[in-house]
Amino acid sequence: MNIEKIKLELKDKSTKDVLEYFLNELHVNIALASSLSIEDQVLADMLYGIKEDAKIFTLDTGRLPKQTYELIEKTNNKYKQKIKVYFPQTKAVEALVNEKGMFSFYNSIDERKECCFIRKIEPLKRALKGIDIWITGLRRDQSVTRDKMELIEWDEGNGLLKLNPLIDWSEEDVWAHIKFNNVPYNKLHDEGYPSIGCEPCSRAIKNGEDIRSGRWWWENPEHKECGLHN
Ligand code: SF4
Repeated sequence: MNIEKIKLELKDKSTKDVLEYFLNELHVNIALASSLSIEDQVLADMLYGIKEDAKIFTLDTGRLPKQTYELIEKTNNKYKQKIKVYFPQTKAVEALVNEKGMFSFYNSIDERKECCFIRKIEPLKRALKGIDIWITGLRRDQSVTRDKMELIEWDEGNGLLKLNPLIDWSEEDVWAHIKFNNVPYNKLHDEGYPSIGCEPCSRAIKNGEDIRSGRWWWENPEHKECGLHN
C-alpha cells in the first residue's frame, strides 16, 4: 500500500469521502478503536452510515464510569449493531491489584503507565491482530502530544496503518455533527468532563482550562498519553 499515493488521492476530500474510500475501495481489514469519545461517536455514526456492519471495538478497562457503559448500550441500540468489547487479561489485573492496591496509578507516571498497559495496551494489541488499518478519533488540536499527527500514519508500535479522519476537525465541528445528527454521547460531558477515560483518572474541568486537563490531572501535559497513540 502506497501511503503517499493515497494521501495525494485523498487531498481535499471530505471526511465522508475518506471513510468511503477506505471502507469500500481499498478492500482492507479496517476497524475503529472507539473510546466512546465524542470524536469516536461521530466516526461510528459515519461508519455505520456508510457500511452498516463496519467494525468497531472498544476496550473495557474495568474502571470505566457507568455513563460509558450506558453509552455503549445506547449506541448499539441506535445503530442496531454491537460494538465488540475487549477486556484485560484477568491474571494481569489480579496480580497488579493484589500487589499494588486499587490506586497504584496515582503513585507515579511509571505505575500509571503500568496500569494503562495492562488494562488498555495489551487488550488493544489483541484487538488489532489481523487488522490492516486502525481508525482513530484523534484531532490535532486536542493536546501538545497530538499536534504533529497526520491523516494517515504508519504506526510503528503496532505494525499497521493508522487513519485519523478527524485530524483537522475542531471541537466545535465535532459537537455540531453530534447535535445535528442526534448522535448519542456520554452524559458526563454535560457535567463538565471534556475527555472521559477511566473513572479514577478523569474529572470535570473549569471554564478556560485545557481540554486534556481533566485526564491524569496530576501529571504534566507532555506525559498525558496512555501509550495507545505514542
Ligand atoms: S486510565 Fe487510569 S485506571 Fe485506566 S488504565 Fe490508565 S491508569 Fe489505569
